[in-house]
Amino acid sequence: MKNVVCMTRVLKIIGHTTSINASLPTNDSPFLTYPLRPASYAATLGSTVIIAPHPDDEALGCGGLLALLRQAGQPVAAVLVSDGSQSHPHSQEFSATARRELRYAEFRHALSVLGVDESDANVCYLHLPDSQVPTQGQPGFAEAAARLADFLRSTQAATVLVPWRRDPHPDHRATSQLVVAALAQLAQPPRRLEYVVWAWERAAPADLPQPDEGVGFRLDIGPVLAQKQRAIAAHRSQLAPGIITDDPSGFLLSEAMLAHFAQPTESFIEALPPS
Ligand SMILES: [Zn+2]
Repeated sequence: MKNVVCMTRVLKIIGHTTSINASLPTNDSPFLTYPLRPASYAATLGSTVIIAPHPDDEALGCGGLLALLRQAGQPVAAVLVSDGSQSHPHSQEFSATARRELRYAEFRHALSVLGVDESDANVCYLHLPDSQVPTQGQPGFAEAAARLADFLRSTQAATVLVPWRRDPHPDHRATSQLVVAALAQLAQPPRRLEYVVWAWERAAPADLPQPDEGVGFRLDIGPVLAQKQRAIAAHRSQLAPGIITDDPSGFLLSEAMLAHFAQPTESFIEALPPS
């Protein structure tokens, strides 16, 4: 029987409550029609930087690829764009600083599960405000893009992993813009692979990739799926029953959402170079 996500439900994302009509059948998702590449493909990507808008996007969107890269001996560094402090904004027990530190610790834990060096030398924190990552032209955007470009230079990245440019979350779209601006500052920009997080469940038709925007593929992550699941589980504050329990309006990943990331494949779109 078709696994159909077909009901109007209320999703709470980063402190905002958004009523959506989640009518996209999971088995009909265009991301599942992409051609499959073997796990060994990861070894061809070279030195890689994962750019995550929030702690958990690295594990959800491309934890399998990160584990495969490390198994293949490829260097992997990480950028965390926002401070992740707004998933439970009304908590009294956890201040904004405490929430940020909790999520940073979960991020480092997830990276270590995936075999990625989680030390400060290998992770760049942009510390931008959760749910308010600046877009092109807004205060802080140019500085963040310049810092990102510096980090990509220092890591000699051959590939960057970044959220799909129209992933339906404002911070994910802003992160994509930051990466595009940073890559424009590099003499030899790395390959850009876009991973999918919220577009699995919330994408409007106009949010989905068009054929002239990139080459879509699925990657076999079967050999490291259990490792990916452990990395997702490292984000305990985002998973029921949670850690911050005094903010009933706070965000937790739903079981339906998590099901997308329990698949033995991950979907990517490789951006085409500008013509
Ligand atoms: Zn996110």
